[in-house]
Amino acid sequence: MSEPTIAGLAGRAMRWMGLGGAKGPVTLSGEGTAPPQPGPSVQAKEPQGGEGMTKPKIALYWAASCGGCEIAVVQLYEKILDVANAFEIVLWPCIMDFKYKDVEALPDKSIFLTLFNGAIRNSEQEHLARMLREKSQVMAAFGSCSAFGGIPGLANVSDRQGVFDVSYRDTPSTDNPEGTRPQLSHQVPEGELTLPTFYDTVRALHQVVPVEYFIPGCPPDKKQIAAVVQALVEGNLPPPGSVIGANEKTVCDECPRTKEEKKVKAFYRTYEIIPDPEQCLMEQGILCMGMATRGGCDAACLSANMPCRGCYGPPPGSTDQGTKFLSAVASVIDSQDPAEIERILEGIPDPLGIAYMFGLPASLLRRRRMPEAVAAEVGAAQSS
Ligand code: SF4
Ligand code: SF4
Ligand code: SF4
Repeated sequence: MSEPTIAGLAGRAMRWMGLGGAKGPVTLSGEGTAPPQPGPSVQAKEPQGGEGMTKPKIALYWAASCGGCEIAVVQLYEKILDVANAFEIVLWPCIMDFKYKDVEALPDKSIFLTLFNGAIRNSEQEHLARMLREKSQVMAAFGSCSAFGGIPGLANVSDRQGVFDVSYRDTPSTDNPEGTRPQLSHQVPEGELTLPTFYDTVRALHQVVPVEYFIPGCPPDKKQIAAVVQALVEGNLPPPGSVIGANEKTVCDECPRTKEEKKVKAFYRTYEIIPDPEQCLMEQGILCMGMATRGGCDAACLSANMPCRGCYGPPPGSTDQGTKFLSAVASVIDSQDPAEIERILEGIPDPLGIAYMFGLPASLLRRRRMPEAVAAEVGAAQSS
């Protein structure tokens, strides 16, 4: 007889990922997997607005991003005028045609704040992260892709070759009989065309440059963004290293559903049952990340009768969201029989994709084991 254990569930996720078991010998990456670390001490000047006064400069940049974080900022509606009133916007490629060279020409630390969304998966994004770090007093990882690696970070179960194989060969809609792949350099009559280097490993922003603040969410909640903007406008910033635009609870703490510590005999996908809108989803067999996720969104997904997927990242005091979640899964399984436990776990078709949906790069696992060449690439990037 055995209880479902965190080790067992974690082992299952790791086997799925190729970290041990039948898919071959693997080890964890040697690259740092530390949780967000504070950047250098910030002596931020209070933003000054108004006629005749120099406004502090702000930059907004998107790296490996879906654009949703940009839309979340735009959806501040009239509050965005507070940003425009209090700050001089020097870079916001999604909205206006700024030139990188103009930002490069600015003195170091002349930008008060950079809101950086998206993960780092190519050389252009890394260059911008390093350049904006040099130019900025305060660097904020805006959104889950930047703070934890996010959805793009799930590519860390593969590498550049694997991603390109799917994108340019394997998908049913691909029509590429000559097997054309992106090239770093291509000559045309007008001159040389270049593309950034696509990396094997996706990284969160703090794995590339020091970061002062982390604003989680996919995208961050509109009310929370407004509160962050308000704090910035008032010069009311917390200590560097803080998670802002969130709270110190879990999503479960904010969730109004009834919790009765019920156990389950099966897990279901959301389309397989119609859940009771009043009862805890986990206790109905629907995987919900609420207990392993930082609060701040007012349990938004739960109010739509959908489970939390974990976009606000690990809760306070937790370094690894996935293992915390798998521990909760183990505690809710209603069986002592190994065979039955195995059958129940079969109802989780993608444990890694659920447990690390928003934070694989910043997790303890970080990525599938890398071939030596990939490790060298990451090592070179980290030391540069
Ligand atoms: S955090 Fe979410 S909304 Fe923001 S860029 Fe990433 S995927 Fe898009
Ligand atoms: S597990 Fe999900 S449904 Fe249950 S209380 Fe927590 S957030 Fe609500
Ligand atoms: S409920 Fe979970 S997935 Fe939904 S917005 Fe909140 S933290 Fe993100």
